[in-house]
Amino acid sequence: MNESHPAATVTLIPGDGIGPECIAAVRRVIAAAGAEITWEECEAGAAVFRKGDPTGVPRETIDSIQRNGVALKGPLETPVGYGERSANVTLRGVFELYGNIRPTRELPGVQAVFAGRQIDLVVVRENVEDLYAGIEHMQTPGVAQGLKLITRKGCEKIVRLAFEIARSEGRAKVTCSTKSNIMKLTEGLLKRTFEEIAAEYPDIRTEHLIIDNLAHQLVRWPEQYEVIVTTNLNGDIISDLTSGLTGGLGLAASANVGRDVAIFEAVHGSAPGIALRGVANPTALLLSAVMLLRHIGASAAADRIEHAIVVTLEEGRKLTPDLTLQEHAVTTDEYADEIIRNLGRQSPHWRIRERRPLSLAGVSARTPPLRVDRRRVVGVDVFIEAEAGAAELGAALERLTGAELRLKMISNRGTRVYPPFGRQPDCPDHWCCRFVLRAPQGEAHDGLIVDLLGRLSSAGIRWMHVEKLQDFDGVPAFSKAQGET
Ligand code: NAD
Repeated sequence: MNESHPAATVTLIPGDGIGPECIAAVRRVIAAAGAEITWEECEAGAAVFRKGDPTGVPRETIDSIQRNGVALKGPLETPVGYGERSANVTLRGVFELYGNIRPTRELPGVQAVFAGRQIDLVVVRENVEDLYAGIEHMQTPGVAQGLKLITRKGCEKIVRLAFEIARSEGRAKVTCSTKSNIMKLTEGLLKRTFEEIAAEYPDIRTEHLIIDNLAHQLVRWPEQYEVIVTTNLNGDIISDLTSGLTGGLGLAASANVGRDVAIFEAVHGSAPGIALRGVANPTALLLSAVMLLRHIGASAAADRIEHAIVVTLEEGRKLTPDLTLQEHAVTTDEYADEIIRNLGRQSPHWRIRERRPLSLAGVSARTPPLRVDRRRVVGVDVFIEAEAGAAELGAALERLTGAELRLKMISNRGTRVYPPFGRQPDCPDHWCCRFVLRAPQGEAHDGLIVDLLGRLSSAGIRWMHVEKLQDFDGVPAFSKAQGET
């Protein structure tokens, strides 16, 4: 049965491990549901890394996605000893797929700890920033540093996306969750942006929860959540947790969306332990394809497939081994056949959520960078590698400060150790030495900083990293160490 949606060309990446077998099953179901799709099959992942492409994503694949604007993707692996970067993260970065949408809804007939609780929520995870930018440096042979990058623009986009999803799906509440109590500038930026943008959506209730409390609440009262918006690492963990609440990775779908491109994929990975055995559950990928069909306007086919999945699970006659006892289980293909047989049937207990089209254009409109009227450099943090203790290093640095800059304090992993603040922690050889202006209204211009660094080097002090301390419109734009006055 065909429906009147514009015929679409979709990039298809079978991926690694269980990817190709799940993709084959999904293609059969979509064809049987009558959606008019031309698949453009492309490579990415392990085979590409092994051919010597360190990105794991060939140019032809990038061009195909760019051309079509929409892709269905199996899981991708980074084989040990081949690329350093994940092909998934590369795709998200190349196409600025800033939003990762992960719905979790209780499905009938699926055994889960929370069965019967009517869980129906969406995690909206920021997808390109945070620690996933992967900007890491070994600062000393024994100290690693990763940069947690959060931008106001990134926060605006993900927050607006969460509110737009709530509106399009008729949901009443959006919960923002961060670790802003500890990371006030980075995680706090999402919280502040959320609170500001919430004013534009007066029809939607809002709340903020610290992420550890959200984890706790989710395993106590998951049904209280509708849309959860959060940063990249928090969202990665929380969305795996929410998929576990309703039956596991075999059922968890997702979409990666940007301004011009959307890539749909299961939440799960390549599951190498069960690959090529024909036992993988294709539902997660199929539900991702259902999201894709709605995205391209093929809602009737999407609805038919969703109903057929629900009927198949509810009747439970033919299920893959992750959903039933081994002796009753069927193969991936037999399960797909059962879904195809059930196309056109509907469960009396299941209602498909009504949706208005999601408007992404307004979400990712190019916003200019934030500007401030007055900015001033008031000092500098110099990160130093030294085996000496805090008192010895402090005394050496005091001797090297000039007329303009003074040593305010030294901290070790965020706690002040010089001048001493209570008991000395067990300090590794990595010190943050904070130099500030002696004259409060002055400016720590580059010459002063370069001069200071030159003096440190001449004295044989090894510095690796320098961070200017800025003041924006009179507000310090840097964090204080524990114990810093
Ligand atoms: P995984 O999701 O592949 O497997 C975790 C567990 O869930 C395993 O027990 C697996 O058998 C089971 N499982 C997953 N999907 C299933 C399905 N459809 N049916 C039945 N059981 C299923 O996670 P992992 O083992 O941590 O990762 C394996 C590889 O996948 C790694 O190389 C990882 O980097 C990659 N990965 C890729 C993606 C992606 O492409 N988006 C996501 C996660 C992991």
